[in-house]
Amino acid sequence: MKETIIEKIETIGNMHASANMETPLRDDAFLKPDEEKIENIQAYFHKIMEELGLDLTDDSLSGTPYRVAKMYVKELFYGLNPKNKPKLSTFKNKYGYGKMLIEQDITIDSACEHHFLPITGFAHIAYIPEDLVIGLSKINRLVNYYAHRPQVQERLCLQIMNDLQQTLHTESVMVMISAKHLCVSSRGIKDKSSYTTTMEYGGEFNNEAIRNEFFNSLQNQIK
Ligand SMILES: [Zn+2]
Repeated sequence: MKETIIEKIETIGNMHASANMETPLRDDAFLKPDEEKIENIQAYFHKIMEELGLDLTDDSLSGTPYRVAKMYVKELFYGLNPKNKPKLSTFKNKYGYGKMLIEQDITIDSACEHHFLPITGFAHIAYIPEDLVIGLSKINRLVNYYAHRPQVQERLCLQIMNDLQQTLHTESVMVMISAKHLCVSSRGIKDKSSYTTTMEYGGEFNNEAIRNEFFNSLQNQIK
């Protein structure tokens, strides 16, 4: 590769930058069945391992290409495919609950789209209902879905917020994510202790007092 192209690739990776709110997907992204994708990725990963000099006839290594391929399609990146999106049934807010609801310490298991290395941490999500409320576990499922695709933390935050705003018919949603990026701790700068916090909010959370109520509540953990 030409020097300038390599420089650009390194810069984008090190800045962890992305311009798109939507995950960039090809038009033909889901025309093939999962089984066909697993078969193809298995063959490609076999090549990668071979190229690294590994002996794929070894008992311990021979199953790795299949395991990696299945893990990519069915586990780590299942959230790329819209057919895997959880059903987010809402209910009428019959009891007229009008204050903040917080779902905190939701596990984040994601992967950085620049290096395909893990991003792990927690999401804290709050909303102030108007006419609709949602089952609590649905918020966890939604976080899981958007996390399980190659991601950029800022985009993950936005995708969760926008989805909840549309589902709940309210702008008053806040999403905060604190996560460690293995591509920062294990390569590049190799900083083992730093982590990244991102937040997005709308509606009533534009009010600083409301945001502080959210932050204060996060401190009062029941542990
Ligand atoms: Zn990265």
